[in-house]
Amino acid sequence: MEKYVIEAPARPAVPVAGTDALFPVRRIWCVGRNYADHAREMGHDPNREPPFFFQKPSDAVVRNHAVLQFPAMTKDLHHEIELVVAIGKRGRNIPVEKALEHVFGYAVGLDMTRRDLQTEAKKLQRPWEMGKSFDESCPLSEIFPASRIGHPKKGAIWLKVNGQTRQNGDLNQQIWPVDEAVAYLSNYVSLEPGDLIMNGTPAGVGPCQPGDRLEGHIDGVGEVLVSYAAR
Ligand code: MN
Repeated sequence: MEKYVIEAPARPAVPVAGTDALFPVRRIWCVGRNYADHAREMGHDPNREPPFFFQKPSDAVVRNHAVLQFPAMTKDLHHEIELVVAIGKRGRNIPVEKALEHVFGYAVGLDMTRRDLQTEAKKLQRPWEMGKSFDESCPLSEIFPASRIGHPKKGAIWLKVNGQTRQNGDLNQQIWPVDEAVAYLSNYVSLEPGDLIMNGTPAGVGPCQPGDRLEGHIDGVGEVLVSYAAR
Protein backbone atom coordinates (compact mmCIF):
# COMPACT_ATOMS: atom_id res chain seq x y z
CA MET A 1 0.00 0.00 0.00
CA GLU A 2 1.48 3.36 -1.05
CA LYS A 3 1.63 6.12 1.52
CA TYR A 4 0.73 9.66 0.47
CA VAL A 5 1.50 12.97 2.18
CA ILE A 6 -2.03 14.20 1.54
CA GLU A 7 -5.26 12.29 1.10
CA ALA A 8 -5.13 10.65 -2.36
CA PRO A 9 -7.76 12.00 -4.80
CA ALA A 10 -10.67 9.68 -5.55
CA ARG A 11 -10.46 7.77 -8.83
CA PRO A 12 -13.13 8.97 -11.24
CA ALA A 13 -15.44 6.12 -12.30
CA VAL A 14 -18.69 5.52 -14.15
CA PRO A 15 -21.36 2.89 -13.35
CA VAL A 16 -21.65 -0.03 -15.77
CA ALA A 17 -25.26 -0.72 -16.75
CA GLY A 18 -26.69 -4.00 -15.52
CA THR A 19 -24.01 -4.48 -12.85
CA ASP A 20 -23.06 -3.01 -9.49
CA ALA A 21 -19.50 -2.43 -10.75
CA LEU A 22 -17.79 0.76 -11.90
CA PHE A 23 -15.63 1.51 -14.93
CA PRO A 24 -12.55 3.42 -13.69
CA VAL A 25 -11.63 6.39 -15.89
CA ARG A 26 -7.98 6.88 -16.89
CA ARG A 27 -7.79 9.40 -19.76
CA ILE A 28 -10.50 11.10 -21.77
CA TRP A 29 -9.62 11.65 -25.43
CA CYS A 30 -11.94 13.68 -27.65
CA VAL A 31 -12.04 13.62 -31.47
CA GLY A 32 -12.48 17.03 -33.09
CA ARG A 33 -14.80 17.57 -36.11
CA ASN A 34 -15.87 13.99 -36.75
CA TYR A 35 -19.21 14.68 -38.46
CA ALA A 36 -19.09 16.52 -41.81
CA ASP A 37 -22.08 18.78 -41.08
CA HIS A 38 -20.55 19.88 -37.75
CA ALA A 39 -17.13 20.51 -39.37
CA ARG A 40 -18.93 22.75 -41.91
CA GLU A 41 -20.88 24.65 -39.22
CA MET A 42 -17.52 25.40 -37.54
CA GLY A 43 -16.09 26.70 -40.83
CA HIS A 44 -13.93 23.75 -41.93
CA ASP A 45 -13.73 21.49 -44.97
CA PRO A 46 -14.57 17.99 -43.66
CA ASN A 47 -12.88 16.24 -46.56
CA ARG A 48 -9.32 17.42 -46.14
CA GLU A 49 -8.59 17.03 -42.44
CA PRO A 50 -7.22 13.93 -40.69
CA PRO A 51 -8.63 13.40 -37.18
CA PHE A 52 -7.15 15.34 -34.28
CA PHE A 53 -7.55 14.80 -30.56
CA PHE A 54 -7.66 16.80 -27.37
CA GLN A 55 -8.12 15.70 -23.75
CA LYS A 56 -10.34 16.35 -20.81
CA PRO A 57 -9.11 15.48 -17.31
CA SER A 58 -10.63 12.28 -15.91
CA ASP A 59 -12.18 14.22 -13.03
CA ALA A 60 -14.31 16.20 -15.51
CA VAL A 61 -16.62 13.15 -15.53
CA VAL A 62 -20.09 13.71 -14.10
CA ARG A 63 -22.46 10.81 -13.54
CA ASN A 64 -25.90 10.61 -15.10
CA HIS A 65 -28.81 12.61 -13.57
CA ALA A 66 -26.52 15.13 -11.87
CA VAL A 67 -27.36 18.79 -11.32
CA LEU A 68 -24.34 20.80 -12.50
CA GLN A 69 -23.06 24.19 -11.49
CA PHE A 70 -23.09 26.55 -14.47
CA PRO A 71 -19.37 26.94 -15.34
CA ALA A 72 -17.43 30.10 -14.55
CA MET A 73 -15.88 32.53 -17.05
CA THR A 74 -18.15 31.86 -20.03
CA LYS A 75 -21.04 33.60 -21.75
CA ASP A 76 -21.36 30.85 -24.38
CA LEU A 77 -21.52 27.34 -22.92
CA HIS A 78 -22.21 24.83 -25.73
CA HIS A 79 -23.50 21.25 -25.69
CA GLU A 80 -21.93 18.54 -27.89
CA ILE A 81 -23.60 15.12 -27.77
CA GLU A 82 -21.14 12.29 -28.46
CA LEU A 83 -20.73 8.53 -28.63
CA VAL A 84 -18.20 7.57 -25.94
CA VAL A 85 -15.96 4.55 -26.44
CA ALA A 86 -14.66 2.81 -23.29
CA ILE A 87 -11.35 1.00 -23.80
CA GLY A 88 -11.01 -2.32 -21.96
CA LYS A 89 -7.81 -3.75 -23.40
CA ARG A 90 -4.32 -2.26 -23.74
CA GLY A 91 -2.86 -1.57 -27.19
CA ARG A 92 -0.46 0.41 -29.40
CA ASN A 93 -0.43 0.60 -33.20
CA ILE A 94 -3.72 -1.30 -33.26
CA PRO A 95 -4.82 -2.39 -36.76
CA VAL A 96 -8.30 -1.16 -37.77
CA GLU A 97 -9.59 -4.73 -38.12
CA LYS A 98 -8.57 -5.52 -34.50
CA ALA A 99 -9.65 -2.19 -32.98
CA LEU A 100 -13.09 -3.22 -31.72
CA GLU A 101 -11.49 -6.02 -29.66
CA HIS A 102 -10.10 -3.23 -27.46
CA VAL A 103 -13.53 -1.73 -26.76
CA PHE A 104 -15.22 -2.68 -23.47
CA GLY A 105 -18.38 -0.72 -24.14
CA TYR A 106 -20.08 2.56 -24.98
CA ALA A 107 -21.73 5.51 -23.28
CA VAL A 108 -23.62 8.64 -24.25
CA GLY A 109 -21.58 11.70 -23.31
CA LEU A 110 -21.62 15.48 -23.45
CA ASP A 111 -18.46 17.34 -24.48
CA MET A 112 -19.45 20.59 -22.76
CA THR A 113 -17.55 23.49 -24.28
CA ARG A 114 -16.93 27.10 -23.24
CA ARG A 115 -17.17 28.11 -26.91
CA ASP A 116 -16.13 31.73 -26.33
CA LEU A 117 -12.90 30.61 -24.63
CA GLN A 118 -12.25 27.94 -27.29
CA THR A 119 -12.80 30.47 -30.09
CA GLU A 120 -10.41 32.93 -28.45
CA ALA A 121 -7.81 30.15 -28.00
CA LYS A 122 -8.06 29.23 -31.69
CA LYS A 123 -7.65 32.87 -32.72
CA LEU A 124 -4.60 33.39 -30.47
CA GLN A 125 -3.15 29.92 -31.31
CA ARG A 126 -3.35 28.93 -27.66
CA PRO A 127 -4.27 25.50 -26.22
CA TRP A 128 -7.95 24.54 -25.81
CA GLU A 129 -7.99 23.46 -22.16
CA MET A 130 -9.90 26.44 -20.81
CA GLY A 131 -12.55 25.90 -23.48
CA LYS A 132 -12.82 22.13 -23.14
CA SER A 133 -11.25 20.76 -19.97
CA PHE A 134 -13.01 22.54 -17.12
CA ASP A 135 -14.83 21.18 -14.04
CA GLU A 136 -17.89 19.01 -14.80
CA SER A 137 -17.30 19.29 -18.55
CA CYS A 138 -17.96 15.58 -19.24
CA PRO A 139 -21.41 14.29 -18.19
CA LEU A 140 -21.78 10.59 -19.06
CA SER A 141 -24.50 7.97 -19.11
CA GLU A 142 -23.75 4.57 -17.63
CA ILE A 143 -21.35 2.46 -19.69
CA PHE A 144 -23.07 -0.26 -21.70
CA PRO A 145 -20.85 -3.32 -22.34
CA ALA A 146 -20.31 -4.27 -25.99
CA SER A 147 -21.00 -7.85 -24.88
CA ARG A 148 -24.64 -6.70 -24.41
CA ILE A 149 -25.20 -4.01 -27.06
CA GLY A 150 -22.61 -4.87 -29.72
CA HIS A 151 -20.73 -2.12 -31.58
CA PRO A 152 -23.21 0.52 -32.78
CA LYS A 153 -22.31 1.82 -36.26
CA LYS A 154 -25.55 3.53 -37.22
CA GLY A 155 -28.57 4.94 -35.43
CA ALA A 156 -29.90 8.29 -34.27
CA ILE A 157 -27.81 10.51 -32.01
CA TRP A 158 -29.73 13.50 -30.69
CA LEU A 159 -29.76 16.12 -27.96
CA LYS A 160 -32.70 18.07 -26.56
CA VAL A 161 -32.50 21.16 -24.38
CA ASN A 162 -35.64 21.70 -22.29
CA GLY A 163 -37.45 19.21 -24.54
CA GLN A 164 -36.49 20.95 -27.81
CA THR A 165 -34.31 19.11 -30.33
CA ARG A 166 -31.02 20.91 -30.92
CA GLN A 167 -28.76 18.23 -32.40
CA ASN A 168 -29.95 15.35 -34.54
CA GLY A 169 -27.62 13.12 -36.51
CA ASP A 170 -26.75 9.50 -37.19
CA LEU A 171 -23.72 7.50 -36.10
CA ASN A 172 -23.20 6.56 -39.75
CA GLN A 173 -22.17 10.20 -40.39
CA GLN A 174 -18.94 9.79 -38.41
CA ILE A 175 -15.98 10.65 -40.67
CA TRP A 176 -13.76 8.42 -38.50
CA PRO A 177 -15.85 5.51 -37.18
CA VAL A 178 -14.90 3.95 -33.86
CA ASP A 179 -12.53 1.29 -35.23
CA GLU A 180 -10.60 3.84 -37.29
CA ALA A 181 -10.46 6.40 -34.47
CA VAL A 182 -9.15 3.79 -32.00
CA ALA A 183 -6.54 2.55 -34.48
CA TYR A 184 -5.43 6.07 -35.42
CA LEU A 185 -5.14 7.32 -31.82
CA SER A 186 -3.18 4.19 -30.84
CA ASN A 187 -0.45 5.20 -33.29
CA TYR A 188 0.20 8.30 -31.16
CA VAL A 189 -0.33 7.07 -27.60
CA SER A 190 -0.75 3.75 -25.85
CA LEU A 191 -4.37 3.02 -25.10
CA GLU A 192 -5.00 1.47 -21.70
CA PRO A 193 -8.04 0.02 -19.93
CA GLY A 194 -10.00 2.94 -18.50
CA ASP A 195 -9.41 5.28 -21.43
CA LEU A 196 -12.48 6.93 -22.93
CA ILE A 197 -12.74 8.30 -26.47
CA MET A 198 -15.48 10.83 -27.22
CA ASN A 199 -16.03 10.31 -30.92
CA GLY A 200 -17.25 13.72 -32.06
CA THR A 201 -20.56 15.53 -32.36
CA PRO A 202 -23.11 16.06 -35.15
CA ALA A 203 -24.30 19.51 -36.22
CA GLY A 204 -26.53 21.74 -34.11
CA VAL A 205 -24.21 22.66 -31.25
CA GLY A 206 -25.47 25.69 -29.37
CA PRO A 207 -25.68 27.60 -26.12
CA CYS A 208 -27.04 26.47 -22.72
CA GLN A 209 -28.28 28.64 -19.86
CA PRO A 210 -28.52 28.18 -16.10
CA GLY A 211 -31.64 26.11 -15.38
CA ASP A 212 -31.48 24.19 -18.68
CA ARG A 213 -32.21 20.47 -18.81
CA LEU A 214 -30.09 18.48 -21.28
CA GLU A 215 -31.23 15.11 -22.57
CA GLY A 216 -29.03 13.13 -24.97
CA HIS A 217 -29.80 9.84 -26.68
CA ILE A 218 -28.06 7.36 -28.95
CA ASP A 219 -30.09 4.54 -30.53
CA GLY A 220 -28.89 1.18 -29.28
CA VAL A 221 -26.78 2.72 -26.49
CA GLY A 222 -28.68 4.82 -23.93
CA GLU A 223 -29.46 8.24 -22.52
CA VAL A 224 -27.66 10.98 -20.63
CA LEU A 225 -29.72 13.45 -18.62
CA VAL A 226 -28.30 16.39 -16.67
CA SER A 227 -29.42 19.87 -15.74
CA TYR A 228 -27.77 23.12 -14.76
CA ALA A 229 -28.65 24.76 -11.48
CA ALA A 230 -30.61 27.98 -11.84
CA ARG A 231 -28.50 31.13 -11.38
MN1 MN B 1 -16.64 17.42 -29.17
